[in-house]
Amino acid sequence: MAKCLMLDVDGVLIDGRPTDGQRWDKELEQDLGVPSEALINAFFKSQWAEIVVGRKDLLPALGSVLERIAPQVKPQELVDYWFKMDSRIVDDVLADCRAARCQGIPIYLATNQEHMRVEHLRRTLALSEEVDGILYSAQAGFRKPQAEFFAYAAQATGCQPHDLLLVDDTVANVKAARHEGWEAVHWDGSETLSMILDRCIRR
Ligand SMILES: [Mg+2]
Repeated sequence: MAKCLMLDVDGVLIDGRPTDGQRWDKELEQDLGVPSEALINAFFKSQWAEIVVGRKDLLPALGSVLERIAPQVKPQELVDYWFKMDSRIVDDVLADCRAARCQGIPIYLATNQEHMRVEHLRRTLALSEEVDGILYSAQAGFRKPQAEFFAYAAQATGCQPHDLLLVDDTVANVKAARHEGWEAVHWDGSETLSMILDRCIRR
């Protein structure tokens, strides 16, 4: 059994817009005048891969895209909107995390993120108070499901792979974690986090 939880963020602990859990960019065009399909194509499909592993900074990359598709919007403005609209904390998951930490189970966030959103998670959403650390792709230089990300996370916590349990809503990440010797559970809504921990974590 594992002894340390590695929790995915988006789709597990955080779930879309604060008001309704919908995708953060659902009304982006109405709200800011940024066409979300153009943003997906010009930014997420072509720039994000480098940003998320820390090889490119978010604001300048976003700025050069916005100059083409929505020149009236500054990159910081879009980032503020995005982070605000992608910040609904799933209360049940957070409650189960708190209970687990009270029982002495270490919890880290293991997440594909660039630096600015991690700061937002840490400070604005105050998640640094809820977990033992945040292990993220831009800091690692690798992303899930790359094997190097899992090696980085294990080393950062001082744990052996078999001590680690990943809970993640992306099947490829779950498979990759298992391949690296971790325990891993696909987060699909069929079990609560506390049920998973009861089953998989040594106390
Ligand atoms: Mg996820």
